[in-house]
Amino acid sequence: MVRVIVIGAGISGLTAAIYTRRAGCETVILEKCVNPGGVSTSWTRRGYTFEGGIHWLIGSIDAIPLHNIWKETGALQDNNPVFFKDPVYTLIDGQDRIPLYRDLHGLPIHGLRDRLALLTLKFHVWCFRHFHQPINDIPGLKARKPRPFSVMEYIRMFPAVLITPFLMLQSAGSYARRFSSRQIRALLGAVVQPNINALSLIYTLSTFSSDDSGYPSGGSARMAGNMADTFISLGGKIHYRTTATTIEKSADGWTVRTDGEVYNADAVIVSADARTAIDRLFSEPVKDKWARKMRKGLETTQCMFIGLGIKQPLSDWPRSMQIVLRSPFSAAGLSYSTLVVNNYNREPEFAPEGCTVLTCLLHGPSYAFWKKAKENGTYAMEKQAVLERFILALGEIIPEIQGNVAVTDMATPLTYERYCCTFEGSYMSDWRPLKGLFHAPIRYKHGLYFTGQRTLYSGGLPVAAQSGRTTAQTLCKDFGLVF
Ligand SMILES: Cc1cc2nc3c(=O)[nH]c(=O)nc-3n(C[C@H](O)[C@H](O)[C@H](O)COP(=O)(O)OP(=O)(O)OC[C@H]3O[C@@H](n4cnc5c(N)ncnc54)[C@H](O)[C@@H]3O)c2cc1C
Repeated sequence: MVRVIVIGAGISGLTAAIYTRRAGCETVILEKCVNPGGVSTSWTRRGYTFEGGIHWLIGSIDAIPLHNIWKETGALQDNNPVFFKDPVYTLIDGQDRIPLYRDLHGLPIHGLRDRLALLTLKFHVWCFRHFHQPINDIPGLKARKPRPFSVMEYIRMFPAVLITPFLMLQSAGSYARRFSSRQIRALLGAVVQPNINALSLIYTLSTFSSDDSGYPSGGSARMAGNMADTFISLGGKIHYRTTATTIEKSADGWTVRTDGEVYNADAVIVSADARTAIDRLFSEPVKDKWARKMRKGLETTQCMFIGLGIKQPLSDWPRSMQIVLRSPFSAAGLSYSTLVVNNYNREPEFAPEGCTVLTCLLHGPSYAFWKKAKENGTYAMEKQAVLERFILALGEIIPEIQGNVAVTDMATPLTYERYCCTFEGSYMSDWRPLKGLFHAPIRYKHGLYFTGQRTLYSGGLPVAAQSGRTTAQTLCKDFGLVF
């Protein structure tokens, strides 16, 4: 049996572990945290569950090939049926409530400029209607259920490929500025952050218009729990609270050291953030060209997470809102005039009866601010001040929350760094306009592999799943196993 150690039980590590175990490997996962899921997680405080991961899951429907991975790894089962919201966002702007529907109908269009901008947007989304990640087999793989390359699949994606270079050259923010309407710009800003390339915006909107990208009920914790259960039911082992400290070449394979244990394996899969791993997980920092490029060029995607348990049902408030504030709200030196807020009142398990949970991600580079606050001893005080200002700003728009906040929770990039070792506390990888990709190879050396959000291409859960499968296939091919 090929002995495999997977470092990390995030979505990519679990995916790679399940597929290698199915291929007959003796697979063991070492995970630093107490739970599976990595950054794709949710947690409960005093009866309120905070969704700190999935907002939408690409591959929620079986027409999308990625769905097969979610099914094969047990991520989606009968216990987490997917809920599809429509509208996907609602703009709350004074008395106005403007929905962003999946098919983009009903947007407030005034004047020729907006009409043309909407036509262009709909055309670009239409071009992407057949675009998806092809989930094929790597060349030369022996597979029990082969998924060969299909020319037709690629031909159908051709319209998207044609406009891709044009979209990659501009940011989502500059794309949205085609609209003169401030409200439409704000709605598009809720979908992806304005500094990411416009390809991500159009691709995401196209997944909405294809009725994909739903939310699996029970959230991130249930989905990751399903995957961990699948792995264990196949005979795999997960050691939680176990941090890998070094990977070394040994006479007959690889050795992974933790604080106190030594694991020998024929192959090691690193699913921990590769940007952290190249500096910390090997006896010497990795000096290959791709690692130097990654060190030099990578810009991290950071956010602060705020969760509130509210002793009110907030049933009159939409599920996902882009809220225009009366006056800007500041946190960690960043200023926000709008807030994207999720209301979990349709998830009865997330809060006591008659109550709900609100969450918000505050995007932007706040790592340096929080690092300094930690060093100065003001971290807890600053967090409390942000929470208080947040509740005040939100209370001006949603008066029902005033005096009804039962629980508060906040994570900063330092939280992601501490729990999941992500570089500068980044929570996913993204792709900026006019910038290349800064990624690790799937096969680094014989028997040593990377997987996860800093391989293949940029993005969230789809990259984690696809890279987990591709890494397992590469390992199977290298060791002569049938996938
Ligand atoms: C708030 C939030 C919202 C998001 N929303 C979405 C969304 O709506 N849709 C979407 O597609 N994506 C979303 N994402 C992104 C997505 O969750 C991530 O891109 C994806 O989960 C990354 O998975 P991964 O396996 O590559 O990495 P990770 O989740 O970082 O997994 C790595 C694992 O390795 C462990 N580890 C690290 N170092 C060690 C070590 N030395 N020893 C042992 N274990 C170690 C970590 O603890 C972690 O469990 C969101 C993320 C966040 C935080």
